[in-house]
Amino acid sequence: MPLISPDGSEFVLRSGDKPTTQIGYVNANRQICRGTFGVYGTDHNQYAYRLECLDCGYVYGANGSDIAVRLCLKCRRGVEGIQYWLPDIGPKAFKLTDT
Ligand SMILES: [Zn+2]
Repeated sequence: MPLISPDGSEFVLRSGDKPTTQIGYVNANRQICRGTFGVYGTDHNQYAYRLECLDCGYVYGANGSDIAVRLCLKCRRGVEGIQYWLPDIGPKAFKLTDT
């Protein structure tokens, strides 16, 4: 059952606009991109994406610009993940538009 925000939009994971931010992209370290909720990451002009480790199943967040080089922080000693879920239901969320 999808979560619905007050304005009626669903909280869905979607692909970004780069090859490495597509849902299903797997990098050389076996980390798969599961998409973004449209939440801003910690890097300039980047969204936070949900990544999952195909080796141990660990799920964490990463900036779109980091997906290609991300390592799992549980089984490959990568760096700490970032928040990829909605910190609030503010107007800055869901700015991942089709424009
Ligand atoms: Zn792992």
